[in-house]
This record gives sequence, structure tokens and C-alpha cells, in this order.
Amino acid sequence: MQITTWHTGLFVFVKGKQPRRTIAYRTDIDGLPIQEQTGYSFSSTHAGNMHACGHDFHMTIALGVLHTLSKHPVDDNVLFVFQPAEEGPGGAQPMLASKEFQSFHVDMIFALHIAPELPVGTVSSKEGLLFANTSELFIDFIGQGGHAAYPHVTKDMVVAASTFVTQMQQIISRKIDPLDSGVISIGKVTSGTVQNIIAEQARLEGTIRTLSPETMQLIKKELEQMMRGFELTYDCSIKVDYGANYYQVYNTKPYVDQFQQAVQKEGITFQTASQAMTGEDFGYFLKEIPGFMFWLGVDSPYGLHHSQLTPKEDALTVGVNAVLAMIHHV
Ligand SMILES: [Zn+2]
Ligand SMILES: [Zn+2]
Repeated sequence: MQITTWHTGLFVFVKGKQPRRTIAYRTDIDGLPIQEQTGYSFSSTHAGNMHACGHDFHMTIALGVLHTLSKHPVDDNVLFVFQPAEEGPGGAQPMLASKEFQSFHVDMIFALHIAPELPVGTVSSKEGLLFANTSELFIDFIGQGGHAAYPHVTKDMVVAASTFVTQMQQIISRKIDPLDSGVISIGKVTSGTVQNIIAEQARLEGTIRTLSPETMQLIKKELEQMMRGFELTYDCSIKVDYGANYYQVYNTKPYVDQFQQAVQKEGITFQTASQAMTGEDFGYFLKEIPGFMFWLGVDSPYGLHHSQLTPKEDALTVGVNAVLAMIHHV
């Protein structure tokens, strides 16, 4: 077994008996800034931080598989990728590009994510698109403030930004093929100081989600064109920053079928998944290397990113068995 560190992440390489290729299994390892309220005796000891997305579960499964393979290696090499920063700003892309990762020459890669809404004993996946393309969206409007009674000598950014929020939805309804899909959501608006001063600046913070990289490019182009129009109309300056972007998770064809066959032999139920507008930076690995991702049922009454997320521990064995079955079958 060979261990290589990479920033706060780790690669563990288990040499095969007669390696023809290298199979990689990736686990994310990061947590979230949420105060844990599960009431567990083993709750996070770091105030305000917990594993509310199940990445501790993902890691435990990786260690379980590693434990078995370290005693009973298979023919092929197996690389365990412990990846930081999935929740942001995204560890997959730089880790994939690193000389450490590249030196392993991975032929196939796969990963799982816990699914609170699925029962224990069930896994779920689908061929093709599983997770959307995502982009953060930050738009700054810069105008000119002044007295609320003299709007004509100001450039009011509350009016400009609020009109923009409603008008941008027409990109979805009028610029995208109705059979395609996209989402633009603004989750935060900041502007102004007090009620009788016209706001000089405004900031919109949101996210864009699409089912293809092309539609993501189209939405960004249309947004920027609309911004140029608003600059003329409201005599202001508008700047955009797309922050962190995640590439779609697109599952490669033969592997999902192979996975289904492998887990069913183990008595695990396979369900065909639906595609979702959520993001996952594992997509960057799949952009370069064939493979797939699957959901693991953990039956928690509270969902991902919730302070009371409580995945059932029986699902750990199911996860280990599903991953091992794939490694043996592929
Ligand atoms: Zn998450
Ligand atoms: Zn997650």
C-alpha cells in the first residue's frame, strides 16, 4: 500500500496481483458550517461544523473497502482518492490535474453519495446525466446615490437590480429550448443603507443550473447581454462573477449496467435514478475518465445539509459491499 498526500487530501494505492489497469474509488471528506444537532454521543466536537452531507459516511465506506483489499487484493490496482473541498470551492478539478493523481494513470473511476430518502439496502443510479452543471452567480450594480426625494439626479440601483431579478427569468422562458431545462435563482439581494437614501449599489447572489454545458454557456451569454442593456437603460455599470462552477456528473454507459448486475448478486436493490439539478464536483473526474456515481440509501428523516442528518449505520455495510462488488465485477 502506498500513501501520497495532496494538500488536505490523500491517495492510497493498493497494488493489484496481476494489474491490467487501475480502478479508482473517490470519497469526498469535507464537512459544512452547521451546528450538529443529532444528539449522537459521537457528534462533532468542532463547534459550528459537522458532516451534514454524509462525507464521513463516504470516508468510512472507503476505509472499509480499503481494509478488505489490503488483506485480499484483486488483480487490478485500486486507487482510493480522499478528496477535499467538495462543498466548495471544489477539490476535484485541481486534484485531477495534480501530478500526483496523473502519475497513477487511472482507467476507471467511481463514487457514491448517501441518499437520505432511499431505504437501507437500496442503491440508485442511471446512465448519462445524474447531476447538473452548476455555476455561482454574483452581480454588482454600481450607480449613483442621493436624496430619496430627488431620484432624477441619482442612478437608483434598487430599481435596476430588482427589475433585473424578474427580467432574467425570461432567459429561461424565452431563450432556452422548452424541451431543455435551466434554473437561475437569486438567493440574496443586498442594497441600500436607510429608507430615505437612494442606493448607489446593489448586489445579487445566486446560482445557475443546467442539464448541459452548452446551455450553461448560453445562459451566461444571455445574462451578460442583458447586463449591457441594463447599463444603458439605468446609466450604471454592472459586473458579474461566476464564482465556483461544477461540471455535470455524466455516467459512462457500460459501468452502470455492470454495477446493477454486481450489486443485485449481493442482494442489494437497484433503482433507476432521476437526473437532478444539484451539483457535485465529481463530474470533473468523469469528464476525463470513464466511470459513474451512485446514490446509497441511508434512510434519514432529515435531508442533506440538515443539522439532524442521521444516516442509518446499517447502510455502511451495504456501501462497502456495493463498492467491493463493483471492484470484483468490473
Ligand atoms: Zn453537500
Ligand atoms: Zn455531499
